[in-house]
Amino acid sequence: MSIPLDSSGPQMKDYASSQMCTWCDACGDYGIWTAIKKALVELKIHPWQALLCFDVGCHGNMADKLNGYRFHGLHGRVIPFAAGAKIANRTLPVIAVGGDGASFSEGVGHLVHAIRSNYPIVFILHNNANYGLTTGQASALTPKGQKMNVSPNGIPERMLPSMDFVFSLQPTFVARGFSGDIPQLTGILKEAIAHRGFAFVDVLQSCPTYNHFATHDYLLEHCYDVGKEGHDAKNFEKARQLAVDTSQRIATGVLYRDEDVPDFCEELVPRKGKTTELIEEVQSADITRFYPEFI
Ligand code: SF4
Ligand code: MG
Repeated sequence: MSIPLDSSGPQMKDYASSQMCTWCDACGDYGIWTAIKKALVELKIHPWQALLCFDVGCHGNMADKLNGYRFHGLHGRVIPFAAGAKIANRTLPVIAVGGDGASFSEGVGHLVHAIRSNYPIVFILHNNANYGLTTGQASALTPKGQKMNVSPNGIPERMLPSMDFVFSLQPTFVARGFSGDIPQLTGILKEAIAHRGFAFVDVLQSCPTYNHFATHDYLLEHCYDVGKEGHDAKNFEKARQLAVDTSQRIATGVLYRDEDVPDFCEELVPRKGKTTELIEEVQSADITRFYPEFI
């Protein structure tokens, strides 16, 4: 991946926005927001050198809490427009951010094909196991039996096994972080940005207002860093096992990485050997022949 670097590098204040944060007190979004900025700053990527795309949800309110190029799109559709932007300009680091509700229900088809296609973008899942923005309804990642705002008797459906599902699609990068561990999450995001293809980053996000089961304290107590226990991120089966089995402890860090699989753009035959990007080629193309009647 080619990231345009500037030796002087940006500072955290360069990513500051004049907009006030509207998240609830102690929301995990603050930690993820900080880690994203820190990762970009430490990689010396300026706000004008990256694209950040946001789905709809509490996390999506980050779209105006950061300086830089941002796109805030339709519910469940963050991956298509992020991937499209990347294909048009492969030099641009593109980060797509979505919630567990949109990503595993309304937009789950896009996630499937992003992994299958190995689009060279980062996908950050704000996983608070509910629809927070609409006041705490169950998502596909809410555990069965859990009482939620409009489910006072508990959720009747089984929880979607998200990590097993992701691994079933032969991903090339899977990581898991925790909104309460900003240094670790910053490191994970830096590795995700540097990954060759689609980087799936599941971030367990505390939502003190509506998630009263996987709280900040619970996650703090149960999460551990696989990097400190010598995990080999090339071991697919072990990574899948660590990702899926959260019964006693929750594995965090880079769980799986395969840099040998070409990304989607590399596989495009018409783009082979091209030294220019589509956005540059469009600028010099004469497209008036396609609509002569309007000239
Ligand atoms: Fe954060 Fe939950 Fe409040 Fe949304 S509802 S801002 S996710 S604490
Ligand atoms: Mg959510």
